[in-house]
Amino acid sequence: MRQAMATAEVGDDVFDEDPTVRSLEERSAELFGLDAGLFVASGTQGNLCALLTHCRPRQEVIAEHRCHVVTWEVGGWASLAGVTMATVDAPRGVLTPTLLEGAIKPDNIHLVDTRLIWVENTHNAAGGTCTTPSDLDAITGVARTHNLRVHIDGARIFNAAAALDVPVADLARGVDSIQFCLSKGLGAPVGSLLIGEASFIEEARRVRKMVGGGMRQVGVLAAAGHVALDETPSLLPQDHANALELAQLLSDVPGLSVDLDIVETNIVYFGIGHELGRPSTFAAELDELGVRVVGFDETGRCRAVTHHQVSADDVRQAATIIHDHAATHR
Ligand SMILES: *Cc1c(COP(=O)(O)O)cnc(C)c1O
Repeated sequence: MRQAMATAEVGDDVFDEDPTVRSLEERSAELFGLDAGLFVASGTQGNLCALLTHCRPRQEVIAEHRCHVVTWEVGGWASLAGVTMATVDAPRGVLTPTLLEGAIKPDNIHLVDTRLIWVENTHNAAGGTCTTPSDLDAITGVARTHNLRVHIDGARIFNAAAALDVPVADLARGVDSIQFCLSKGLGAPVGSLLIGEASFIEEARRVRKMVGGGMRQVGVLAAAGHVALDETPSLLPQDHANALELAQLLSDVPGLSVDLDIVETNIVYFGIGHELGRPSTFAAELDELGVRVVGFDETGRCRAVTHHQVSADDVRQAATIIHDHAATHR
């Protein structure tokens, strides 16, 4: 990947002259069965460009309440896009027609104008859970009936495709836009793609400039993205097997609680019993022992994520370290 970055052919992408960025945008659009793509700095920037392009201020977005855009993107939907969020509670993070029908506002001067349905696939906070092609068909069906648009936050969509054993295009069928990250499970250092219809991407390109995302000789980053798309998707099933093994091993550790039923991809959440201290403290202690997890005090859990540089042996070693460290708290 570093070699590809060093030898990348580049140009000024603000003038649409970077061949490596162009080919990555075209390739990504083709992969998802949509017209055009836009290279952006991050998942957050891709999601923000989607909000600013699909919506006008005073419109509303329907999203599951734990979605990344709702909680972890600094509230840009409110402060920058000027939209409101109608949040719904979906057990596995998967939207259903019933939930959507209940959240769509009727035409009434007292109410905001429902504009966009937001799907997160995989759903990070729900456990890395997948929205299937048939779940998505039900969602886009509701969107068509009510003349709404659908955006997918597909930061982790290649994990969903691997877990469901379908092409990523099947997870974008009938949607208006999708954002995916090169920098999560795919393992590139930087970058995301926003994909949609040609006219949507043309407008999003202007929006990206507005939010400071017009980058010049950025082919050095796109080159890494090409390598990520070439090499990493086929490695994801192993990450998922490793995550499941980690979850099973952690479920036997006294003081930890693991919901094995939601472990579908490369994310493992484990609840931290009171006797083990706060999740953030427990995570910091594990870091000292060479195991990196994130602690979320607000939900009482830690999150471990596997990727292609973590082996099955690494996972077993991590589980042993976590087991032994938990025992020191009792
Ligand atoms: C990580 C993530 C993002 C944001 O990506 P950044 O590149 O960190 O801005 C958005 N959505 C989901 C579901 C994510 O997991």
